[in-house]
Amino acid sequence: MSKLLEVKDLTISFDSYGKEVQAVRGVSFDLDEKETLAIVGESGSGKSVTAQSVMRLIEMPPGKFVDGSIVFNGEDLVQKSEKQMENIRGREIGMIFQDPMTSLNPTMTIGKQIAEGLRKHRNMSKKEAHHKGIELLRLVGIPTAEVRINQYPHQYSGGMRQRAMIAVALACNPKLLIADEPTTALDVTIQAQILDLMRGLQEETGTAIMMITHDLGVVANMASRVAVMYGGKIVETGTVDELFENPKHPYTWGLLGSMPKLDSEEEELQVIAGSPPDLADPPPGCPFAPRCPYAMKACQKQMPAYTELSATQQTACWLLDERAPRVEMPIEGGE
Ligand code: SF4
Ligand code: MG
Repeated sequence: MSKLLEVKDLTISFDSYGKEVQAVRGVSFDLDEKETLAIVGESGSGKSVTAQSVMRLIEMPPGKFVDGSIVFNGEDLVQKSEKQMENIRGREIGMIFQDPMTSLNPTMTIGKQIAEGLRKHRNMSKKEAHHKGIELLRLVGIPTAEVRINQYPHQYSGGMRQRAMIAVALACNPKLLIADEPTTALDVTIQAQILDLMRGLQEETGTAIMMITHDLGVVANMASRVAVMYGGKIVETGTVDELFENPKHPYTWGLLGSMPKLDSEEEELQVIAGSPPDLADPPPGCPFAPRCPYAMKACQKQMPAYTELSATQQTACWLLDERAPRVEMPIEGGE
């Protein structure tokens, strides 16, 4: 299968009170057609900025595109004008967010919002777009769609708004759907329903999904591959099986340790001690070094290269690098 999306060396910074915050630092990943890739990490890891960069939604300034390429469907989105991007957003790439109200317009009926894309990108008449809108609302499981289509977002419940947002995002059959924490604000039952819905729609429409989440349950449920982000970098990537069964990066170990176990309610959530690095002044070496129980001297000096553990699993950790000194003792300052 050909690559739908190829992001290389993406580097994005933000000006924050005169300081340059290096939010995304040389991130590379790709996505096949029809595939689901999860990008997982804590808040501030750079995962949302990465997602928004693909859509070219970062406001510049304060954002700054420092380096990299974002090749979608064979074309570099970095080189596109804002006008060209307007044609790609919605038509080729759809996006859904944690809060549907950031993408739904409160002053327009849901029907109008679905119709907007269809009329602009698919040349549909008003009537055709209206019918297609009803069909889409049914598809995402909204009851009495013929009535609901004429209602405003505030007349919908939270879960229904999320469904409507998915209908808007998928109206034009995009090749790629970017979902940034799409179920984080929802309660567990609705969350499971929305994930089911997305999986079903993906099977039906064949759209690829880039899923941004901090929730490993969502990853296990939805994704075939995972990229783990920390401190603006991808520290480990692999198939879901590889990362859950055989993780090799100490940060991934920490993440998996902090996943609540579904079968035991008393299990304490294990939190990784310390806090993420200040990206206005990132550590010169491995970003996880200040929190890593295995940190060696080399870790603090230089970012480790990726070690290829399989055709799909790559991990950036000195523990796997044969050039690293074999010192297994935690060093001073390590925890
Ligand atoms: Fe820990 Fe060093 Fe590996 Fe970073 S490179 S995760 S500090 S052992
Ligand atoms: Mg975020």
